[in-house]
Amino acid sequence: MSSSTAQVDTVLLKVASRCNIDCTYCYVYNMGDEGWRGMPALMSDATVDALCQRLSELARAQSRKFAIVLHGGEPMMMGPRRLKKLLIALRGVLSSDYPIAIQSNGLLLTKEVLDVCDEADVSLSISIDGPEEVHDRFRVGKKGQGTHGQTRAGITLLKAHPSTERLFSGVLAVIDPGSSPAEVYAYLTSLGSPSIDFLYRDGNHSVLPYGKAAAQSVEYGRWLEVVLDRYLADPNPPKIRFLDDLIKLVLGGKGVKEGLGEMDYGILIVDTDGSITKNDTLKSTQPGGDRFEQAWSVYTHRFSEVVRSEEFARYHEIQRPTASKCCSCAELSVCGGGMPLHRWSQADGLNNPSVYCADQLHIIGSIRNRLRSEGLTA
Ligand code: SF4
Repeated sequence: MSSSTAQVDTVLLKVASRCNIDCTYCYVYNMGDEGWRGMPALMSDATVDALCQRLSELARAQSRKFAIVLHGGEPMMMGPRRLKKLLIALRGVLSSDYPIAIQSNGLLLTKEVLDVCDEADVSLSISIDGPEEVHDRFRVGKKGQGTHGQTRAGITLLKAHPSTERLFSGVLAVIDPGSSPAEVYAYLTSLGSPSIDFLYRDGNHSVLPYGKAAAQSVEYGRWLEVVLDRYLADPNPPKIRFLDDLIKLVLGGKGVKEGLGEMDYGILIVDTDGSITKNDTLKSTQPGGDRFEQAWSVYTHRFSEVVRSEEFARYHEIQRPTASKCCSCAELSVCGGGMPLHRWSQADGLNNPSVYCADQLHIIGSIRNRLRSEGLTA
């Protein structure tokens, strides 16, 4: 897709550059990038005003509806008063056709915050990796203490809200390949969440993801295979976007989210100072890996100007893998080469297959076997 036809799917807002906890695996704070230190702790009112102006322009400039996701740090660090102001301002320029969601660790959720989200038609996804012993291994507070109890309390509050069906969009879980996938599946489904978003750990060919002995090993693929078995046997399963997308892609359909398949997605980030950057997961490749060379900002540039630029076109193109192994891979249309951050090596940049290549082939093979045994594919 050329820059002239690219459109924005998601604008991810870093509304708080600090977090109230200190997950040891976090790409923002604990993978070498120190950019957050120079950022305003919270997005200011002036930046919110400039941002809303740009979002309003974008909604007029492109036909595709786009989603807004509030990220941090921890978005709830804004506090209920500022959060309300922000959400009301966003809804003031974007109708309910534009989904607005918050990704939160759940610790700072209160009834007041949930009422604010309800009023602005904003959904919440909570990050929880599994039962206490799994979650508290990495998702810890500033003194290394576990956070599971507080996260669980936040989910309980969310589920108790009268508008929970609209508010609670799902949970997000980072995979620990050393955990029991059956236990994690049973625990996360017991939360009554409408969806579970499983994520691979950050990592690349120069810094292997946690739990992978080698690029060729399949710890994550085997872990996901057990989840697939539980999922397919579950009479009342939640949505699992990762598996749903793979199944749809194997059957010839389309996925809905970046990192799988060959769809292109237009993702831009706005930092707390108003700067416009690439997908911030690229911070995990090298310090500043998420920065454009051009100093784009909501104060000085329209999103449509950024999207039309040559630099955005180059950023957009990195979604497609260039490694010869990927280009000739029989599963390219399903795998898509994975997330760019997982292709990185210091020697070859992004010109590699995903560090999860073997895991991807393992889980795709498992899905093909299951579908074949059900008579759904040849
Ligand atoms: S990462 Fe591996 S499975 Fe995915 S497209 Fe590339 S070669 Fe194929």
